[in-house]
Amino acid sequence: MDPIDAGRLREDLERLVRIPSVAFDGHPAEPLHEAAALVRDLLPGSRYVDVPGEAPSVYAEYGAAGDGPTVLLYAHYDVQPAPADGWESDPFEPTLRGTRLYGRGAADDKSGVVAHLAALRALDFTPPVHTKVLIEGSEENGRQRILEVVDAQPDLMRADVLVIADGGNWKLGEPTLCTTLRGHGKLTVTLRTLENALHSGQFGGAAPDALLALTRLLASLHDDAGDVAVDGLTDGAWDGADLPEADFRRQAGVLEGVGLVGSGSVGDRLWARHAISVLGLDAPPVEGAGNIVIPAARAKVAVRVPPGADPVASMQAVERHLRAHAPWEARLEIDVEPASSPLALAADAAAAAALETAYGKPVAVMGSGGSIPLVARLADVYPEAKIVLWGAQDSDAAQIHAANESVDLAELEAIARTEALFLTQLARG
Ligand SMILES: [Zn+2]
Repeated sequence: MDPIDAGRLREDLERLVRIPSVAFDGHPAEPLHEAAALVRDLLPGSRYVDVPGEAPSVYAEYGAAGDGPTVLLYAHYDVQPAPADGWESDPFEPTLRGTRLYGRGAADDKSGVVAHLAALRALDFTPPVHTKVLIEGSEENGRQRILEVVDAQPDLMRADVLVIADGGNWKLGEPTLCTTLRGHGKLTVTLRTLENALHSGQFGGAAPDALLALTRLLASLHDDAGDVAVDGLTDGAWDGADLPEADFRRQAGVLEGVGLVGSGSVGDRLWARHAISVLGLDAPPVEGAGNIVIPAARAKVAVRVPPGADPVASMQAVERHLRAHAPWEARLEIDVEPASSPLALAADAAAAAALETAYGKPVAVMGSGGSIPLVARLADVYPEAKIVLWGAQDSDAAQIHAANESVDLAELEAIARTEALFLTQLARG
């Protein structure tokens, strides 16, 4: 195995970050195809796999199918949108500040794409085990169309070991194996009370305001302590290493003096229980707000489903709660986007050994509250497969999905080295 080519690693990442490959409605498709083409160029012998209604995934195979295990390396080249607000540099112009490279997708998950590339390059694209690579182009939008590819071509991604480079260390430089993913579903709630907007002086006080009704409804989802207050949800308890509250507060940037929500350990709240948040709210903007009683309002509510819970039952419970709690018999329309499945993994000893060798220190086993729908489906379809979830998206500063996303270049190099070591060790059994 050659050393990781750090210069090439950074160059690949910068080329990818320059492409605004956002797979959400309202964003152009060309950059997605440009990113797909670049990934295809970077992976010798690769080909496209069509994903219905989405940009293609890029697929490649290296090494010979033989006695050893087959490994699948997964990452995604699509990114979250990057509204200009709050960015200190152009989100699509990779910018080095200190040891970190800033840009949308620099961590989530173009770091995963280039880590796989660098590991394979260190092995001259002839890894000692049969290795498949799948780089997806539509992970972030929640449409989950990649699952149709798994159903239609069950052998394509079949492997004994699935390496998902779409995670990160709990702290920069602290090697971490992730053992949980939550499922993720959404509900769009439209609440109506009036035929039209009304003069708030003439009608306010008796006419039901839809925005007030909706905010009351949303508030009913949690109790005063911030714990989810929806009947019928099955929560668990986290029994692994906990995330110290001080580290969590710092990583989350919770303002001095502001409390956390919920009760129990941080691990319980992040990895073993349901979480509900409000992603969006349609209401008149403050600027130019008129003196009216509002006739209709709309919100998008996200539900994270922990391991052990049935995602269908969880979404039904939240929908039931919303219908039961609408104030003033307001009319509700609820559109449910089904939740992906949660996942609980065994910590893989060989993966832990590779991390320990690359970092020269012991490995922490922790959960992740995030969601990767494809991984849950692959676990279903290949129940014997081991799943390894790691990556260069450290919880300290990577700011994934937010402004000023970045990756630490030394962390990225260490993850690439870990993967190359892991593939080498798998060949030795
Ligand atoms: Zn991701």
